[in-house]
This record gives sequence, C-alpha cells and structure tokens, in this order.
Amino acid sequence: MKQLKFKKLNIEAYKPGRSSFRKFKKIIKLSANESALGVSTRVKKVISNKNLNFSRYPDGKSKELRNEISKKFRCDKEKIICGAGSDEVIQMLCQLFLRPKDEVIVPQFSFLMYRIYAKIVGANVIFAKEKKYKVSVPEIIKKITKKTKIVFLANPNNPTGTYLTKMELINLRKKLRKNILLVVDDAYAEYMKSLDYKSGLELFKNNENVFILRTFSKIYGLSSLRVGWGYGSRRIINALNIIKPPFNVNDVAQKAAIESLKDKKFISRSIKHNIFYATKLKNFLNNYNISSNEVSANFLLLDFTNCKLKAKYFYKKLKMKGILLRSTENGYRIKNMLRLTIGSKKRELKIYECNKKYI
Ligand SMILES: *Cc1c(COP(=O)(O)O)cnc(C)c1O
Repeated sequence: MKQLKFKKLNIEAYKPGRSSFRKFKKIIKLSANESALGVSTRVKKVISNKNLNFSRYPDGKSKELRNEISKKFRCDKEKIICGAGSDEVIQMLCQLFLRPKDEVIVPQFSFLMYRIYAKIVGANVIFAKEKKYKVSVPEIIKKITKKTKIVFLANPNNPTGTYLTKMELINLRKKLRKNILLVVDDAYAEYMKSLDYKSGLELFKNNENVFILRTFSKIYGLSSLRVGWGYGSRRIINALNIIKPPFNVNDVAQKAAIESLKDKKFISRSIKHNIFYATKLKNFLNNYNISSNEVSANFLLLDFTNCKLKAKYFYKKLKMKGILLRSTENGYRIKNMLRLTIGSKKRELKIYECNKKYI
C-alpha cells in the first residue's frame, strides 16, 4: 500500500501550561503567564458591544491598530506588522528568512516557539549555553557560522526570568555579522522596572538588522484573542506582508487591542500589582529555601535545589489543591524547577496557605 508522504517532523509539539485538572471546576491557573488582573474595563466594554459585526472580514492591514501602536510607542506605523499573536509573526519571520540547513541560534532555555517554527521550515536550531540560567552573549557569538541567519531571544527571557542589560544587548548586536537578524522578543517589557534594562523597541527602533516582537497576550490580558505585532525595517515588513495570511487578526481582537493601549491606569496598576506580589512571593518562598530569579516579568522560576522538597512533589501537592504551575521539565528541559505566574491577590493567598501546610 502506498502511503501519503509528508515532511518528517522531528519536533516536540508545544505543550501549553495546563489549564484544567479533573476534580476541579475552577482551577487556579498560574502556568501560562497570563494577566493577573484580566483585562481593562475599557476592553470589556468594547467586546460586549452588541453591534459588533461578525459577517464582514476584518481589516487585513490592521490599520487603526497600527496607528494606535505607533502613537503609543512613538514608532513608524509602516514598520509594524500585526499577527495572530506574536506567535504568528515568529512563524512568518521563519518562512521569510530560513531555507533548509540554515542555522538559527537560540539560548539554551529560551521560549519554545522559535525552535519549533525554525525546524518546521527545515532550519537547524543551534543552542547557545546559558550561564546560571541567563543568556550569555559570548556563548551566542561562539555558535555563529556562515550559515547563521537569525538569533532569537526573549528579553526578559521566558522561562528563566533573567534578562540582558541594555549594554549587553547593544554589545550583542555589535558582535553579530550585519547579515544576521537579531530578533528581540519584548513580550514582558512592560513589567520591567530595572534601571539597567531597556526594551528591544527602545534600543533598536531604527536598526535594520533587528526585529522586535510585542504581544497583547501578557500585560494587556488578551491571550485568547491572539494579537501581537512585529517591528522591523520597511523592507522586511513589506516582504512579511506578502507572506501574511490576508485576514490574520480578527476584528474583535483589533478593537480590543486598540482599547487596551489607551487604558494607562490599568497598565500601571498591573505593573504595581506584579512587583508587589512577585517580591512578596519571592521572599516568602525564600524562607523555605526555594530560590528564584530577581523580580522581572510576571513570573518566577522557582529553584528547588536547596529545598528539602522536590519540584515534582510541590507541583503535585499544589495540583491536588487545584493550583497549576508550569513544569519546566518537558520542552524547556530544566530539572527540579517550576515556573510560577504572578496571579491575583486571592490566588497568592491560596499559595501561602498551601505552602504552610506542605513545606
Ligand atoms: C507569552 C510569550 C509570547 C506571546 O505569544 P503570543 O503568541 O503573542 O500569545 C511571546 N514570546 C514569549 C517569550 C512569551 O513568553
């Protein structure tokens, strides 16, 4: 019997942070770095408007949304492309830049979608070692070959929560060949308050060899609507627009994203909430010898090396209480650690209760 033939995909499919667990109708999901405060009331208003029209195609160019983005972030609207999540922008970039056997460099413990989309188009993914779970510029430089096309990194990085400083990032770009694209994923930039940090967008707005990724899935709370954007040279954006599916971002998503940008109060409240609870949780867990990265994005990578409990045990115990954390063992391949998203006040209190019982 002749079988249908398709590409051999030697790829581990992306496994999202768990969102359900049998016994529980209402679980506390701290496994996907979603917004602790949900969405702004302005967004709620827009998406509950009875006059939304679902029978028309959306604006394929996301014109109004790009306008709002360019106003808010003081950048050129012609250099923006919107995607169904920044996910889709990563996919389009890989389609545009990579041929089979080309090389892509990613840090050892980086966001999984870079390697997945790069492999799908036949590129080889080269891992650069990290130092104490932090991206290492020298290690990235070591991995460059003639075939290197793209270096991907998230800053701060998911799942490690560490970040390259402004100077380190500038230094990395300086050391890369001009014809290597540096992709800086700013997914958590809004949460960052460290003085030595600058987002990719702030640093490289006018750099032809850097491409920036941004998302509405995190601080803006629109994960389910799938909206993100990319920022790069007009030449790259024009080419990406040929690859882009014609109606990739739906109308509700565009409208919600526009509103979410306008609610400054919601954003500053989210930032304050995050710093307060991330610090509180970090200190609380430190008392039990569970260490973690410095407070940066809306999650902590918990390290159980010095704790008498194993990460796996802690994960199971919390799961039995209906609290879901992200295991970093599969996919990221980080042992004896767990990623904890900073949730809402009520959720945090639940964690405190549980810890007191089990640790
Ligand atoms: C969550 C996350 C994203 C966002 O992906 P979307 O497709 O926009 O939901 C992008 N990059 C990193 C590093 C992330 O953690």
